[in-house]
Amino acid sequence: MYDVWKNALAEIEQQISAANFSTWFQDTSLISTEDGNIKIGVKNSFYVKQLRNRYLNLIKSALENNNILVNKVDFEVQANIKPKVHSHEVIKDNPIKERIKTIRNNNSNNTTLSNGLNQKYTLDNFIVGSNNDLAVSAAKSIIQSPGTRYNPFFLYGGPGLGKTHLVQAIGNELLRINPNLKIFYTPISHFYSDFIDAIQNGKGKEFNRKFQKLDCLIIDDFQFIVNKEKSQEEFFNIFNDLYQLNKQIIVTSDRLPSQIKSVDERLASRLTWAGAFDLQLPKFEDKCAILKAKADYIGADIEPEAIEYIAENVNTNIRDLEGEFSTILLMSDVRGMTPLELIRNGSVSLNKSSKIRPVSPKQVVEKVAKYYDLSVKELCSKTRVTHIKTARQVAMYLLSNELNLSTNKIANEVGVKDHTTVMHGVKKIDHDLKLNFTLRDQIEEIKEKIYG
Ligand code: ADP
Ligand code: MG
Repeated sequence: MYDVWKNALAEIEQQISAANFSTWFQDTSLISTEDGNIKIGVKNSFYVKQLRNRYLNLIKSALENNNILVNKVDFEVQANIKPKVHSHEVIKDNPIKERIKTIRNNNSNNTTLSNGLNQKYTLDNFIVGSNNDLAVSAAKSIIQSPGTRYNPFFLYGGPGLGKTHLVQAIGNELLRINPNLKIFYTPISHFYSDFIDAIQNGKGKEFNRKFQKLDCLIIDDFQFIVNKEKSQEEFFNIFNDLYQLNKQIIVTSDRLPSQIKSVDERLASRLTWAGAFDLQLPKFEDKCAILKAKADYIGADIEPEAIEYIAENVNTNIRDLEGEFSTILLMSDVRGMTPLELIRNGSVSLNKSSKIRPVSPKQVVEKVAKYYDLSVKELCSKTRVTHIKTARQVAMYLLSNELNLSTNKIANEVGVKDHTTVMHGVKKIDHDLKLNFTLRDQIEEIKEKIYG
């Protein structure tokens, strides 16, 4: 039994990121396989939901590939599963304060190199979820063959969602595979000040030459280019040169180039020639996975319920999620109480003010209708005319994602009879969003209208 599971796990490990693997699979065991009724042991009930929702098919096929008949898969909570020894065990001996530095990613061992890269950012410690999976798969493709399909790679998203982490990880991975590559990471603001320095010291040409020699240029926070025409021009030249040589260019920004004022239109369009990838706010499951991985990484004990509580209550970004998480761990250390005990006795107050979004379902439906030039009545009608149907599905999607309404309530709000129609509609938009950038922009615009 042990060997079968070991082989199946080895197969699963190939298919998902190291972080996800260690988060969800390392404490599992195979209890029985009789008559195709598979029983898998897990540490606690928290894992059951996650494994079932996210990895059921993967588990099934890994077992089948190891000649195990699979009819049904059940999970069983086994209190006595010992947490596997972590490679971070050494860390465990350190005081919690030191360990937390690792989650906050400012471990003093990790210094920035002269190429601008910081080795603390890896793909292994970047948790993949529905909020970032497309961007991560593009990143992986770049790591395999830089300068080809996703060139330039344009990555955008709000603060604290992992842009810097992901693009730095690409740089680090590229170097790991080929240490001879010339890679340079710089925030655009440094690019700008270095450029000005170079010009003032009569070294403009050298500056330009240095960039032209690169195999991969990573520019972070491009939105700060605003009103810096000279450096924009220089960047444009370097961009064109590198592009023509099939060198990989990576640019991050908090918004699309077309939404940055004073960016040259030609540059704006070139930046997204190969598409634009965004990082979205993590969903509940993504947040749990991130927290769980960080806890495992530093060997901190935190109850699953505490993780769920934090995930539920921090809705701003991943940086804040980490911040709240480490505060609770520290507090737990200082007070000698577990994180859950602290939460239960009311000592933890997660800053909720930024998360309450006081909008009603009616307002959402009205805004969507208005955006698509429809009346609410038209939107809620039974018609199957494509553009009206799409508007209706967008409304369903927003009611589900923004207001967390149940499918039955959504059905009521948009005038459909059946909650399965709602499920289908929400899924459809979720799926389309992955490929359809226009739809993404539309939904962003509608959200802006909704939240004013
Ligand atoms: P941005 O550049 O978008 O503002 P960062 O890359 O600085 O965001 O990310 C903020 C923090 O969140 C960092 O400490 C980063 O390591 C962490 N982080 C972001 N996304 C993830 C993820 N998917 N998995 C693990 N940590 C993440
Ligand atoms: Mg950043």
